[in-house]
Amino acid sequence: MLADKDRIFTNLYGFSSFTLKDAQKRGDWKDTGKIVKKGREWVIDEMKKSGLRGRGGAGFPTGLKWSFMPKDSGKPHYLVINADESEPGTCKDREILRHEPHKLIEGALIAAYAMGANAAYIYVRGEFYNEASNLSKAIAEAYKEGLLGKNAAKSGWDFDLYVHRGAGAYICGEETALLNSLEGEKGQPRNKPPFPAMAGLYSCPTTVNNVETIAVVPTILRRGGEWFAGLGSDEKNTGTKLFCISGHVNNPCTVEEEIGIPMKTLINEHAGGVRGGWDNLLAVIPGGSSCPVLPASICDTVRMDFDSLREVRSGLGTAGLIVMDKSTDIVYAIARLSYFYYHESCGQCTPCREGTGWLWRLMQRMVTGNATIEEIDMLLDITTQIEGHTICAHGDASAWPIQGLIRHFRPEMEKRILEYRKNAPSERMVG
Ligand code: SF4
Repeated sequence: MLADKDRIFTNLYGFSSFTLKDAQKRGDWKDTGKIVKKGREWVIDEMKKSGLRGRGGAGFPTGLKWSFMPKDSGKPHYLVINADESEPGTCKDREILRHEPHKLIEGALIAAYAMGANAAYIYVRGEFYNEASNLSKAIAEAYKEGLLGKNAAKSGWDFDLYVHRGAGAYICGEETALLNSLEGEKGQPRNKPPFPAMAGLYSCPTTVNNVETIAVVPTILRRGGEWFAGLGSDEKNTGTKLFCISGHVNNPCTVEEEIGIPMKTLINEHAGGVRGGWDNLLAVIPGGSSCPVLPASICDTVRMDFDSLREVRSGLGTAGLIVMDKSTDIVYAIARLSYFYYHESCGQCTPCREGTGWLWRLMQRMVTGNATIEEIDMLLDITTQIEGHTICAHGDASAWPIQGLIRHFRPEMEKRILEYRKNAPSERMVG
């Protein structure tokens, strides 16, 4: 369990105000100028030492990502912060925007400096009205106090920060769709390469980072990369993480914990346990809706880090846990996610545009059992034909929940089909 002294987000629940005055009492903006003056190499090295991996879902090492930015491209450089949090089951970045916006603003200045950017954009999900409002107020305060703008925080670096509100499309959380949307284009993912570090916003070198990733930067640099690396399960899974726990638990919550905490401890200690007790657990989606579901037998022992969850063929993703007790119709639950991915497909690639619709229609029949046993294999086959064959990860995200369902709950699917056949009129049994 994480000790209070190692907690980064000390105002996660908004018990004190988000304003600059209170943020400074919590230690934000302390010696920011001095940190920047230590130089680009120092900042990037310290980030590499910390072992921080991106908190938006992909888990790519942050220091390494920053080092991909060219040193002197002759063009403007940009930092873009992805606050388009829309993955079902995920509700962490909104807490930072509402209650700890100064951590994000300070982190943006340091990160932008490290990649040679004099401007950064925070792309906020359209539905986040209060979040965008608090963030904008915090940015205005920072400008007033000289923490942003010319010679920001007396760092010698000029830095402007802009808030851009999206219009509520899930796919705009994909980094290149986000850049298109920011440019005023249709929010559709771009073909890669080129990657944003070479040609991102306005075709200039750009790094896109998640809100939580940037918000932890100032504390890491104040306390040292080694401090952060000393937390977590091992050198590849370091630090603390915001976990969002929803579904059939007694106290749904977002909580900061050490990466690698056992899932069972996380749910029992912070979310008040599973409704009806641990033995009433059916399954957990561990990292936001795209991560394959895990049955209770795996949840008993699995640890909440990138590698442990990959070993059991799921993922840490955004660390949004969706807990389902035994009252859940698991086939229906996954079918509902299929509808979500079908609805949110941008339509550029045939396997995703057509395939997500096929998945949704087949899953509807799996819910009632009006299908054949062979169609379970066909369903699985469609997922593998979508996975890895599209421009962006949305195709994979639509495939994985169904793959998890078939891997762990195939007997339940077969049972429904057999029961349907037993009860259905003979003409409905064709095929
Ligand atoms: Fe659009 Fe889907 Fe292709 Fe992504 S995978 S670009 S969402 S059609």
